[in-house]
Formats: sequence, C-alpha cells, structure tokens
Amino acid sequence: MGMSSNEDWLARSQAAVWHPCTQMQHHAQPGSPAYLPLVPIARGQGAWLFDFDGRRYLDGISSWWTNLFGHANPRINAALKEQLETLEHVMLAGFTHQPVVELSERLSALTGGALGHAFYASDGASATEIALKMSFHYWRNVGRPEKSEFLCLAGSYHGETVGALAVTDVAIFKDAYAPLVRAATVVPSPDFRLAEAGETPADVARRAASALEKHLERHGERIAALIVEPLVQGAAGMAMYDPEYLRLARQLCDRHEVHLICDEIAVGCGRTGTFFAHEQSEIRPDLMCLSKGISGGYLPLSIVLCSDTLYAAFLDDSVARAFLHSHSYTGNPLACRAALATLDIFEEDDVIAANRSKAQRIGDALAPLADHPQVRHLRQRGMIAAFDIATDDPHFSRRFYRAALAREALIRPIGNTVYLMPPYIVGDDEIARLTQAIQGALCEALGR
Ligand SMILES: *Cc1c(COP(=O)(O)O)cnc(C)c1O
Repeated sequence: MGMSSNEDWLARSQAAVWHPCTQMQHHAQPGSPAYLPLVPIARGQGAWLFDFDGRRYLDGISSWWTNLFGHANPRINAALKEQLETLEHVMLAGFTHQPVVELSERLSALTGGALGHAFYASDGASATEIALKMSFHYWRNVGRPEKSEFLCLAGSYHGETVGALAVTDVAIFKDAYAPLVRAATVVPSPDFRLAEAGETPADVARRAASALEKHLERHGERIAALIVEPLVQGAAGMAMYDPEYLRLARQLCDRHEVHLICDEIAVGCGRTGTFFAHEQSEIRPDLMCLSKGISGGYLPLSIVLCSDTLYAAFLDDSVARAFLHSHSYTGNPLACRAALATLDIFEEDDVIAANRSKAQRIGDALAPLADHPQVRHLRQRGMIAAFDIATDDPHFSRRFYRAALAREALIRPIGNTVYLMPPYIVGDDEIARLTQAIQGALCEALGR
C-alpha cells in the first residue's frame, strides 16, 4: 500500500499493465485528440466508481455491459462471503457442487426446459468457441461431418480469441489476424438502420432473412450453425433489429438442419426487456451463450446451454465422441454463487417488470436529443439506448468520452455511436445526470 493518489497508480499502471482494447500510446499523449485518459478506480458503490483523488464517475455502460445491480451490491457480497468460507473452488471433471448444480437447473428452467444442460467456462469468447465446437462435433457424431461451416451476421461480435474471431465481423478486431482465422460466411444483418425508403424494421428483417434463405438453399448441406446476437448487435454499435428476423431464421435453420446459436452474452439477463432476448421472437435456440451480466458483473463466468437432443448425441462408449473441452476454472463455485445471487435478485425484486418503467424513463430523458441536428437513429431496446452522431471527426468518440468523464459520467462511444447501458439499479436522479452529461459532452465534443 502506501500509494494513494491517482498520479501514482497511473504511472505504475502504464509501466506494468498492458490494457485491453487500447493503443497504449494514447494513454501517454495528453493534448493529442486521440488522448485516452487512464482512470484509476479505488472503489465502487452502486452505480458509482470512485478514484483516489475524490472524483467519481457514474457507470453509464455497466463496466463493459457486465454490472447489473451495482458495485458492492450487499446481497451478492453476502452470498460470496458465505461461499468463500464454504468452497472457493474444486475441479468440475469428476466432481460437482451445490452452486453449479443449482445454477444449471435454474438456467434450464428459465428456458422452459428447452436447453437442459449447461457447460461452463470463464469468458464470453470461450463460450462462443464451445458452442461452435459442440455444433460441429454434434454433426460429426450423427454422421454428417460435411456440416462443418458457420454463418454469422454482418457486424457480428462474438469475442476475440482466434476461434471466436471466425464469427466476428468487426474489421478492427479481425483484420490483423485474418491469416490465423478460418472465417465463417457473413450474411446480411437485419440492422434496421439499413431500411430503404418506405421499409419498416420488419421489412429489413424479412429482406435479411431472404438473403439467409438463398444462402442456405445453396450451401445448407455444409452449414453446421448460424450464430446471432439476438435483437441487438452490441459491438457493431448497438445495431438493433426486429424480432421477426429470429422467427424466420429459426424456421430456416429447422428446414435446412442448421443449429441456431443465440449469443446472449450482452443481451441476456434482462438487458433487452425479457430475461433472454430471443424470448421476444417466441423461439428457442439449440445453443445459447451467456456471460457478462450472469455473475452480476462480479466474476468471470460463461455458460453454454444446449438442447437435450444435442447433448444426447455425445453419449457413447467412445471417449472421442465425448465433448472433451475444459478450462481449469470451469464451473467455479464463487462465480456460480454470484450468478445464483443475481438470479435471486431478479426474482425477489421482479426486475424485468421494474426495468420496463426504468427503460421508459431513460427513453423519455433522451427523447429531446432526436431534435439535435447531428443525432441520427435514436433507438432503444429495453435497457439499451443509443444514437449515432453525424460527423467526419475521426476523434469524436475520444472527445466525447473525455468530455463525459469531465462531467462525472462513464459513457464510452463505439465509433460515432453513443449509448447508455446502465446498471438496473440506476435511479431517476442518475438517469437525469447521465442525460445531462450526454448533452454537455455532445456540445463540447462537437464544438457547438
Ligand atoms: C463481450 C461479448 C463477447 C465476448 O465476451 P468476453 O468475455 O469479452 O470474451 C461475445 N459475444 C458478445 C455478444 C459480447 O458482447
């Protein structure tokens, strides 16, 4: 200990830590338009983060979409303290424990029993890879090894490990590693911003689905699975689409014997207004990936849920037909316990219903921005609200981010897309603060 100011931690962090998703040089160039301040955080409480110098920041993006019920949540803290005194970890191969069993049962129940088994890992990208490997291996086990290719949507993001990059269509993450990656086929996104004159969001969904249909008619024999982010493509810049797309995609996948993988890592856990986003299309996937919010934003945890049909194809005398994937911390009891405490809060506080009025208030607060001359496509799905800024300034997102921090708000645009994705405990006064920070930061960043 001994060090207590922001300045000390900044210097030591820059000297020793390689920060994610960052050109490290940008941390060292105050005054440059690309300057990215590094913010040392001492502690968190509710929707607020506090630095070492007495400044605070309202967490408008849930610490990268993970935190659901605030920092230092008393109920999750209590559950974790109890778990810590009981069992911190045990390997999951050949062993089992109460938190992992209860969590698997409860998640299956939340899918109405459609996805009966849960497989565990620690991060979202690994969940993506597990789902892809399960699908591929399923088809091999049932004697269809030619079904070995994957489809993803334009602008999709499913993680950044080499396997997950295969189904990630975001140039900045993917291009440098293209030679390492066995890229999937990209089919058109149903993003409703792509509407042509007179088209509704449902029309755009139908147009994208008919492109999917054409592809499956020609190549369906070779396709193992289609992977989608249901309703909102997060890293693409909160691209939103009509639930009709998933309904049609489900039908097409059934017709062509292709698995539908729903990556609910960002949109699951109540984020879009239902516990799982795919519920709004009244469908079920064959495989579902969860991470981020499932542990309340506390601990690295990811889960792949699969149908019993898929699971059954791995049961055999042969070890090679089994799913041999594993990670050291698979099914970690602390992480599972955090997830159980998170699910308890959903039940005890009727969070899905409460979020409905909270989302309404966020929408009302942001509505005046629609009149801003540079705001485009103001949009919202549940607890995600976003808009795009029409500007040629390549440094807009940095300018905005710095200006928001100066107004005590953590709001980090994706390119020219500004979005709010706050923890569900955000209060009315905090919604008002975030809205004011957005208005002020827009003025400063756009120089008007
Ligand atoms: C964040 C995210 C991932 C990757 O999760 P990590 O834990 O960052 O590896 C995958 N899919 C979606 C939709 C995500 O938002």
